[in-house]
Amino acid sequence: MPKLMVDSLAQHIYLSFDDGPLPGTSNCIDICIKEDIAATFFEVGLHQSRSHYGQKLYNRILDNKNLFALCNHSYSHALGKYLDFYHQPDSALFDFIKAKRILKPDNNIARLPGNNAWNTQDAKRASGLVRPLVHKLDSAGFNIIGWDLQWQFNRYGKPVQSPEVIALLVDSLLANQQTKTKNHLVILMHDHMFRTPEDSLKLEKMIALLKMRPHYRFDKLTSYPGLKRGGY
Ligand SMILES: [Zn+2]
Repeated sequence: MPKLMVDSLAQHIYLSFDDGPLPGTSNCIDICIKEDIAATFFEVGLHQSRSHYGQKLYNRILDNKNLFALCNHSYSHALGKYLDFYHQPDSALFDFIKAKRILKPDNNIARLPGNNAWNTQDAKRASGLVRPLVHKLDSAGFNIIGWDLQWQFNRYGKPVQSPEVIALLVDSLLANQQTKTKNHLVILMHDHMFRTPEDSLKLEKMIALLKMRPHYRFDKLTSYPGLKRGGY
């Protein structure tokens, strides 16, 4: 088949790993490098800055810019108190600006802590709770990207669904056009889910299953369609 025809059928998968640097981050990095696939890391400023260990992991992501995008997931991650965080949009905005100073990402993509909000040129979604902050982040030049599918974790922080189930969900969401943008699918995972060798194998397996689908391409979120440019 000519290359152009193949590309026109392409469907884009964006693996995103949240809340690092944390135990598990280095396994996510290793697996993506080994499989030679792109991924996006939404980093928490506090986790990066509080230890030498966090900075080392952060540097490993930056050292692989061909494969990885590093994006802003706030400084404090709301310290888990989401209602307080979103009820004070000015200090929440400052939390993202503080993270930007620490993480120094080369893009203007952010993800809200604990909330699947979207705000790009084309994709909009914000609950009443987060809307004031989304407007402020928008004015400050940020794109906000949520997710289409979450690989959930249980109370021990381990993956809930099997790799096979996740791969089938990817197929079905794309086939039924149930993603935010047609033919583009964002998967949310958390670094800490893959901190044991046993759970890392599940990530490898899921990637291997997706790689078997000929039309799937792995991309960084910096190439997601409809992002606002500039303002950064
Ligand atoms: Zn998070």
